[in-house]
Amino acid sequence: MDQVVDTPPRLELGLAWPNSFAGLGPAFYTELAPTPLPSPYLVGLNQRLAAELGLAASLVAGPEGVEAFTGNATLSGARPLASVYSGHQFGVWAGQLGDGRAILLGEAQTAAGAQEFQLKGSGRTPYSRMGDGRAVLRSSIREFLGSEAMFGLGIPTTRALMVTGSDAPVRREEIETAAVVTRVAPSFIRFGHFEHFSAREQYDELRKLADYVIDKFYPECRSTQAFAGNTYAAFLEQVSERTAAMVAQWQGVGFCHGVMNTDNMSILGLTIDYGPFQFLDAFDPGHICNHSDEQGRYAYNKQPNVAYWNLFCLGQALLPLIGDQELALAALESYKTVFPSELEAAMRAKLGLLDNQPGDRELIEGVLKLLAKDRVDYTIFWRRLSRHVAGEPAETVRDLFLQREAFDAWLLQYSERLDKAEVEESASLMLRTNPKYVLRNHLGELAIRQAKLKDYSEVEALLALVQAPYEEHPAHDQKAGFPPDWATHIEISCSS
Ligand code: AMP
Ligand code: MG
Repeated sequence: MDQVVDTPPRLELGLAWPNSFAGLGPAFYTELAPTPLPSPYLVGLNQRLAAELGLAASLVAGPEGVEAFTGNATLSGARPLASVYSGHQFGVWAGQLGDGRAILLGEAQTAAGAQEFQLKGSGRTPYSRMGDGRAVLRSSIREFLGSEAMFGLGIPTTRALMVTGSDAPVRREEIETAAVVTRVAPSFIRFGHFEHFSAREQYDELRKLADYVIDKFYPECRSTQAFAGNTYAAFLEQVSERTAAMVAQWQGVGFCHGVMNTDNMSILGLTIDYGPFQFLDAFDPGHICNHSDEQGRYAYNKQPNVAYWNLFCLGQALLPLIGDQELALAALESYKTVFPSELEAAMRAKLGLLDNQPGDRELIEGVLKLLAKDRVDYTIFWRRLSRHVAGEPAETVRDLFLQREAFDAWLLQYSERLDKAEVEESASLMLRTNPKYVLRNHLGELAIRQAKLKDYSEVEALLALVQAPYEEHPAHDQKAGFPPDWATHIEISCSS
C-alpha cells in the first residue's frame, strides 16, 4: 500500500534564495521550522515594502501568504533557522541568548537586492530559555509601525512586511493573543553574535563570521590603508561610524530605543528590535521610555554613550582578530568625532542652517535648554518653527513656552543667523527634516485597542502617515497635535 506523506503546504514567491547565512554552518544556528498558529489572519500589510521587494501584495497577503508568513507553510527555497548569539543586557554579561522567538526564513534575491526574511513570534527555539517563543499583538503592531516610521524618517532600520495574528492565547501580565511580524533586512546579525564566539574562545567561528560580514557588507575594509592594513580594525571603525550616524539621527528626531543591549545592536547600524521604544512627546533629556529600566540606563540622553559602550564590547569581542589593543581603541575613536559632527549636522538641518558658522553650537544648545526647561513638545516645536521660517507668525512657536522672554531672545538670535536671501531654502530643508507626524505612544495605543477588536483600519491609517511624515495630510491634523493627558500614563515595558 502506498504511504500517504503529509507534506506541509509550500508557497512559491518566485525568488532565488541564496541563504548565505545558512552557509556559515551549524555552529551558528539550529535549523528548524516555525511552530504553526491556528487560523491566522492578516493584521497589517506594508504594501510599499512588498512593491520594493517585487512581491505581489495579493500573493503575500492572500490566504497562502498569511499561512506562510505566520509560519504555517514553508516558502519554497527558504531554509529556516534560529541563530545563536550572546550579549550584555543592562550592562551585565548575560551569556547565551539567541533567536528565542525569531526564525530566519532565509535570504532571498529580491527587487531590492538580497534581503533576509525573519518571522518574529513564530514559536520556541533552542534559544527560548524560559520564553514561549511568541509575541503578542500589541508589541507586533508597535514593531510594524515603529520600524516603518523610522524608515519614513530616513533613519536606518530593519523593515516590516506584514503582521499576522491568531486567536491563540499568549500569557503575559494578562492573557493576550499571538501575532507574527515578518521582518526584512539585509542581515539580522548583531554585536552579540560576535560576542558569543569571542566569549567562548571559538576564534575560527569568530573569524568566519567577521569575514562573512566584511565580504558581504564592508568589502572596502579589505583594502584599507588605515590601521596598518588591519581589515578587522577597519571593520570596527566602519561599524562605529554607522552606529554613530544612526544614534545621531535618533537624537535628532527624539527617538528612544529603550533596550540598547548589545544583542539589540545591528552590525549594519540599523535600528533593530523595537520593544519599549518611544518618540518623545515633551522634551525631557532624561526621559526613560522603558518601564523596566529602573536605573534609566537607556534614557534618551544616555543613548550616545551607551552606543559607545556597546561598540567597546564589540571591539573587545573582535580583539582576537584585530590582535592589537591599541588598534582596536584607535578604531573606536572615530565614534567620538563622527557622533558629534553627525548630531550637529542633524540639528543644523532642523534649524534650516545651510552652512556651518561659529556660534551654531550655542544656538542649538540654547534652544534645547529652553525646550527642556519648559518641557515643550519636541515634534510640535520643530514643525511650528519650520512653518514660522516658511512665513507664518512666530506666535504659534512662542505659545509653546512658559519663559517667553528667554525664547524671544533666542528667536532673535536665530533670526539674525538665518540667511535672509536663502530663507526659502531654509524653510524647505526644515519642512523635510522636522516631521509633522511621529508614531507617538498614544497613537499606537489607539490603533492597538481597535486591532484587539479586529478593526485594523487605524493600523493602516497610521502606516500611511508615518511612511510620509513630512507631508501635511490635513485630514489627520489631530494626529499631529499634543498627546492627551492619558498618554503620560502609558507604561511600555520589556513585556512583549
Ligand atoms: P529582547 O529583550 O526582546 O531583545 O530579547 C532578549 C532575548 O530574549 C532574546 O534572546 C529573545 O529571543 C528572547 N526572548 C524575548 N521574549 C521571548 C519569548 N517570549 N520567548 C522566547 N524568547 C524570548
Ligand atoms: Mg532582542
